[in-house]
Amino acid sequence: MADESMQITIGHLYPDLLNLYGDRGNTIALAKRCEWRGIDARVVDLGAGQDVDFEDIDLFFIGGGQDFDQRTLLADLGVGVTGSKATRLQQAIERDVPVLAICGGYQILGEYYVDHEGHESAYIGALPMYTEAGDTRLIGNIVFEADAIEGAPTVVGFENHAGRTHLREGAQALGTVVKGYGNNGDDGTEGLRYRNVIATYSHGPLLPKNPCVADTLIELALQRRYPGAKLQPLDDALEEAAHDTMERRLIS
Ligand code: GLN
Repeated sequence: MADESMQITIGHLYPDLLNLYGDRGNTIALAKRCEWRGIDARVVDLGAGQDVDFEDIDLFFIGGGQDFDQRTLLADLGVGVTGSKATRLQQAIERDVPVLAICGGYQILGEYYVDHEGHESAYIGALPMYTEAGDTRLIGNIVFEADAIEGAPTVVGFENHAGRTHLREGAQALGTVVKGYGNNGDDGTEGLRYRNVIATYSHGPLLPKNPCVADTLIELALQRRYPGAKLQPLDDALEEAAHDTMERRLIS
């Protein structure tokens, strides 16, 4: 069982630029769910101009943003540059470091993004997918079956994106849309699972109302540093009540 002797570091990428609809609440939820178990969780901001040794990061989070913000951070990201944040993040993903990526942050991990003004940006290319903006925005509450997370939980969230994400052949969707748009409003997929990356369009913030997703990420991070570590369950009555209220409201 995970205990007081354990410590993880959460790297929050671009908290200054990518933080729509309370996405920062995801790092707060991760840190709190560790604290409630006596696990020492530290959150390190990795905004533009801020950097650390990515080998010290046990879990990355990247939130959503406007198209302009996503273009703004490209210089700091350094796509295709040896030793850049982009290159080191892709290397971390290949080392199975867990990542939670929301909306714009999800898009940035893909191959490229053509935004609503037609600007094409090459992105990190860590995930087998690409995104192209449509003429309308896909906005609303979302419910999906997260088939690619252990236990296949039903996840509730909120989405607002012009981007339509298309998965490459063989890529594993994070889940199947029950209500809402998902990756592109067309093929019924939502998000993407690649190694220990959980990528989704779901804002909210996502994790407070979906505690099983939070614990999946925490356990993946712990187990890389402490093999075999298992999380003790928490009393999630409040979190589950919030989740179930939204699910009932959206599905009924
Ligand atoms: N700017 C991107 C889009 O419009 C992402 C939006 C977001 O992060 N909510 O698709």
